[in-house]
Amino acid sequence: MFNRFSLLVLMGVCAVIMTTRAQDSTPSPQEITIHVVQRGDTLYHIARQFNTTIDAIAALNGLSNPNSLFVGQRLLVPNAESTATITVLPQTSETIHVVQPSETLFRIALRYGSTVATLAEINSLADPTLIFVGQRLIIPATQATQSAPYPAPISNVLLKPSVFTEGATGSITLETQAAVTVSGEFLGKPLNIIANADGTRHASIVGVPLFTEPATYNAQFTIAQANQPPLRVSIPITVMSGNYAASNINITAEQQALLAPAVEEFELSTIAQLASRFTSERFFEGTLSLPAAAPMNAPFGTRRSYNGGALNRVHNGADFASPPNTPVFAAANGRVVMADLLNIRGNTVMLYHGQGIYTLYAHLNAINVTLGQEVTNGQVIGTSGATGRATGPHLHWEVWVNGVAVDPIPWTQQSFP
Ligand SMILES: [Zn+2]
Repeated sequence: MFNRFSLLVLMGVCAVIMTTRAQDSTPSPQEITIHVVQRGDTLYHIARQFNTTIDAIAALNGLSNPNSLFVGQRLLVPNAESTATITVLPQTSETIHVVQPSETLFRIALRYGSTVATLAEINSLADPTLIFVGQRLIIPATQATQSAPYPAPISNVLLKPSVFTEGATGSITLETQAAVTVSGEFLGKPLNIIANADGTRHASIVGVPLFTEPATYNAQFTIAQANQPPLRVSIPITVMSGNYAASNINITAEQQALLAPAVEEFELSTIAQLASRFTSERFFEGTLSLPAAAPMNAPFGTRRSYNGGALNRVHNGADFASPPNTPVFAAANGRVVMADLLNIRGNTVMLYHGQGIYTLYAHLNAINVTLGQEVTNGQVIGTSGATGRATGPHLHWEVWVNGVAVDPIPWTQQSFP
């Protein structure tokens, strides 16, 4: 008797659930998002943003005229399961770090999410306080994320390095079990994605702009696969400070006209625009070569003041103490995209190396190449000089990645992605 009653109740509950499932097409509250209409929103854009249809939104909100949206209107949007953004933690592969001036093992460990003890052990360092500039250290993969489970079809997420630095380059690589197409954005900019032939490896090279606040930012990716709803994932990436130094530079009264922000801005935006062009082929493998047979005498990223003024400028290249009229070398195979006399940089050559990677050589005395010319790694493209806003003969070398000026030196030590 008691058992039969229980069974009946159970059947009744099942029936209720089944009825609800079968008849009710209205999503339950957790499957609905409230979207406040913004200036410029259209139903089409909102539907796309939430991976749903105009009809579904119109039906849910009882909209008779889908064109009559107003700013501030609260719209119920069916939140399809596939639009939920899944946070995935990256896996980092082993990398080599070349010790820089003023670095300590502690700072290096912090940068890569490792510990002093781990680095000392893996590199057989008897005394962790004794490291030297130029020393190559093995940085292990971050153990915490080694067995991170990924939502299908993702099989791996790799960051290089595991922590990004303001003013430096990083890369984000997604590997998948099946062919997919990937789009993404980071730091408010769409990412240029480099896909392999079978569509299972998607990499993007990121230039982190100088002055990016140290914080953890999410890279957002949408992974589209044939006959599957798109997968949206969010990858947290930490950006740390570059700890760049500050310096003052004295220039002549004549050169001071070139300090006008408008002159500097115009030149910088011209270069940035040129450096924003992206194609997925690449003209070189591995690292960049050094552009001069001379020591570096001013690093990238230094905050600068001129003639004791405000520290409102930044050095967005690395300088080499090249004597006048000594050869300047192409840092890799590429194509000349600029061979021109600029106000601040003087005689300037800019090369494109593919995949959004550019190098720039400034203050040249002579330019040996012409626009559109193809050059090879190590080819003499000009001679050093002091043209433009230079305080003496030297080579000013810049590297641009997808429209952002980055520290060139790491590119001579490791390759991205
Ligand atoms: Zn410079």
